[in-house]
Amino acid sequence: MDPLRVVASAVVPPLCAACGRACRPEAVLCTRCGRRLASAEPLLGMGPPGLDRVWSSAAHEGVARDLVAALKFRRLLPVAALMAERIHWLAPANMLGGAIVPVPPAPLRTRRRGFDPTGELAGALAELLDAPLEPCLSRRGGARQVGRRRAERITHPPRIRARCEAPRSALLVDDVLTTGATLTACAQALRAAGAVRVVAVTFARRL
Ligand SMILES: [Zn+2]
Repeated sequence: MDPLRVVASAVVPPLCAACGRACRPEAVLCTRCGRRLASAEPLLGMGPPGLDRVWSSAAHEGVARDLVAALKFRRLLPVAALMAERIHWLAPANMLGGAIVPVPPAPLRTRRRGFDPTGELAGALAELLDAPLEPCLSRRGGARQVGRRRAERITHPPRIRARCEAPRSALLVDDVLTTGATLTACAQALRAAGAVRVVAVTFARRL
């Protein structure tokens, strides 16, 4: 640890990204939240239309939900690394093949925040898996999924297209799976651009 960080952590102890309590230096979560996350059950299923399979590391509740918010709204980058580690450790090996394709953010959102949480998660996972990262999808328009009602999200799927040739085997990555409309739109764009196998992993899944 560099000396400045030692001094900083002596003055202000690091805080748990989920509950905000003090925790060990270098830790993202306190012991209690770490244990809670460890006991969360992963979810595997056929997933929304267009996907061969979808796996999520936890339900979108408790510590998992707090971490999603910490990455999205507080831009805590170590959280992306922790999410990627959990996916790496727990996802079935046959889910983790192929090139990693991040689910693209809505252009307006990235511009406003200057930060793409899903891109960070996908990048961290690609590094852990030593897999190619192919951000070949883009989203048109500023349509936002968050804040819309579930029915609206299903009837107005995001407009997603491939900017270049898609990998034959694609592993879509997103922080949260909500209705699946976004993943379906991504899978359709990937298949139209040449993908044969499309699976997805997400850190959390709204039930
Ligand atoms: Zn905590």
